[in-house]
Amino acid sequence: MELRELGRTGLKLSTVGFGASPLGNVFGDVSEEQANASVRLAFQSGINFFDTSPYYGGTLSEKVLGKALKALGAPRNSYVVATKCGRYKEGFDFSAERVTRSIEESLERLQLDYVDILQCHDIEFGSLDQVVNETIPALVKLKEAGKARFIGITGLPLGIFSYVLDRVPPGTLDVVLSYCHYCVNDTSLGDLVPYLKTKGVGIINASPLSMGLLTESGPPEWHPASLELKSACQAAATHCKEKGKNISKLALQYSLLNKEITSVLVGMKSVEQVEENVAAARELATSGIDEETLSEVEAILKPVKNQSWPSGIQQS
Ligand code: NAD
Repeated sequence: MELRELGRTGLKLSTVGFGASPLGNVFGDVSEEQANASVRLAFQSGINFFDTSPYYGGTLSEKVLGKALKALGAPRNSYVVATKCGRYKEGFDFSAERVTRSIEESLERLQLDYVDILQCHDIEFGSLDQVVNETIPALVKLKEAGKARFIGITGLPLGIFSYVLDRVPPGTLDVVLSYCHYCVNDTSLGDLVPYLKTKGVGIINASPLSMGLLTESGPPEWHPASLELKSACQAAATHCKEKGKNISKLALQYSLLNKEITSVLVGMKSVEQVEENVAAARELATSGIDEETLSEVEAILKPVKNQSWPSGIQQS
């Protein structure tokens, strides 16, 4: 598995990262056995980056991931763990007091002494000024205390990244995690990459399958996309299937093509999905992408290109 550097952190992440939200049962139930086997196979296949949050499954994902990582018996510096703070089953709280308590709770659930990356989770749901003036300074302190090696922010609307990065001292943030904006149906993150590079932050792209839109079985019931976007993606998946191709493989490979993005986080809940996603990355490296099917899928998705959905609160 190819490794790419994450901004100025010195971390080298596998281009395919393990998104652990499915381990919180957010895409259907996953047994602990299946979770352990998926994490183990991912690690053995060269995936060294694991992303979770206290929000996923109301802390379940952190607990299950922590157990699975411990069971690997691998040296702590052989894998990179990212978690988040500020978003919980109970709601959002970006106060310094809450995020400081949050990392202690996360470390206990993950059975770790530190995380590699701590990110404010979905900041568009809080006051961005509070994130700039209170949350990030608290995260800087946690970094100094050795609880997290690097810090970052995550969210859906791309404008949040420049809002925050333009207001914190240069070099304060190490990472941004964007999701659903560098997929075959939405490439809007690409336009922001030059700006993010000038800010020196590492870029993580999550949800290359658009949280299930780009799968044969379709998205979960809670998926926020419009009916128009859902049916266009379904048409693309059906087209691939009729050709004997797999939309998820094509979609993951498409996201991996952008080398400015360090790692693509795909949610995985079974050994089969790990196998498929690792094979997709290997095949891309040896044979390239299926250009013909890609252009057909792009044509089907053209009417909904870059269509997203609202997320967060109106900022004053
Ligand atoms: P995704 O686009 O990766 O899709 C995940 C869905 O696709 C799941 O249902 C999974 O079971 C399925 N899947 C995975 N591989 C497949 C395959 N080969 N064939 C068919 N189906 C397959 O969406 P995601 O899980 O939401 O995102 C990935 C990860 O990124 C998350 O787990 C999380 O760690 C992170 N993330 C973070 C944020 C944030 O911080 N705000 C937001 C979204 C995602």
